[in-house]
Amino acid sequence: MKRYLALDIGGTKIACGRFTEDGLLEEKILFPTRAERGYKEILKDIVSVLLRLKTEDTIALGVGTAGPLDRIKGEIYSPPNLPGWDGVPLKKDLYENLKIPIFIDNDANAACLGEYIFGAGKGVKNMVYVTVSTGIGGGIIINGSLVHGVRDSAGEVGHQTIVPDGPLCNCGNKGCLEALSSGTAIAKRAMEEINSGKDTILKQWAKNEKITAKHVREAMLMGDEVAREIWNNAMEYLGIGIGNIITIVSPERVVIGGSIGLSGKDVIEKIREVVKRRVFLVPVDMVDIVQAELGEDVGIYGAFAVALVEMRNRGGD
Ligand SMILES: [Zn+2]
Repeated sequence: MKRYLALDIGGTKIACGRFTEDGLLEEKILFPTRAERGYKEILKDIVSVLLRLKTEDTIALGVGTAGPLDRIKGEIYSPPNLPGWDGVPLKKDLYENLKIPIFIDNDANAACLGEYIFGAGKGVKNMVYVTVSTGIGGGIIINGSLVHGVRDSAGEVGHQTIVPDGPLCNCGNKGCLEALSSGTAIAKRAMEEINSGKDTILKQWAKNEKITAKHVREAMLMGDEVAREIWNNAMEYLGIGIGNIITIVSPERVVIGGSIGLSGKDVIEKIREVVKRRVFLVPVDMVDIVQAELGEDVGIYGAFAVALVEMRNRGGD
């Protein structure tokens, strides 16, 4: 039996796992990133955990990490949540310690591939993955392969302009989907409404804790009008963004993940409703819009999938 290692690097936690080639997750080890330690210290921990997981029959390592990055060189270029990772040679450093082939992709592309092979994307050829949590990311699969684009920048579904002069986005543009529908954007809207003196239960809650998108959803479910409007606007924009992607890609399936994306069936229903209202040239009844299935393990399944696909392409199985 051949085995694979998988590594998912996030700003708050790092997950490592060992899989059999047919997709069984045999062992998983999680530890906090403590990103302020910087690259060298974090790398030391990663290597020691991966060496512990590595068996004699382990043939490759797949990595999903925050980008931007160069997939082929395996270098990472200053992700906002990994301070000090400024052009670090992650692939080279891992190879020196592990001596097996290493394949890297950004975390959203990896998650997309993970859902495609092991989760909600099974059985189709064309799929779009959209993850909605603190940010909005995604990936696009066409004819069974991830679309990478120029310097691995394809699939950034969160950074399409939705409102020309909308709120400023982290990427530098205004009115991106991420600046309108992410958890961060929803919380920011709530604070604006609270500060403008609107009558909302969120105002009471804000006295004791930092308001998040979760609070807005909770208030909305309790019947709070201000929260309902914030939430509905964010979901309307999300539906518009996903409708745009469907118009361009016409995938058989759209898989929605992330804490906001998975917060309730109503999110999927709202997206379907907006898509029906706004997409005319694609037969939308033939496009499934579904929830992601891999849950919190999507990161390591995705990292594994990145290596599995590359090894199969090489004729490695
Ligand atoms: Zn943006």
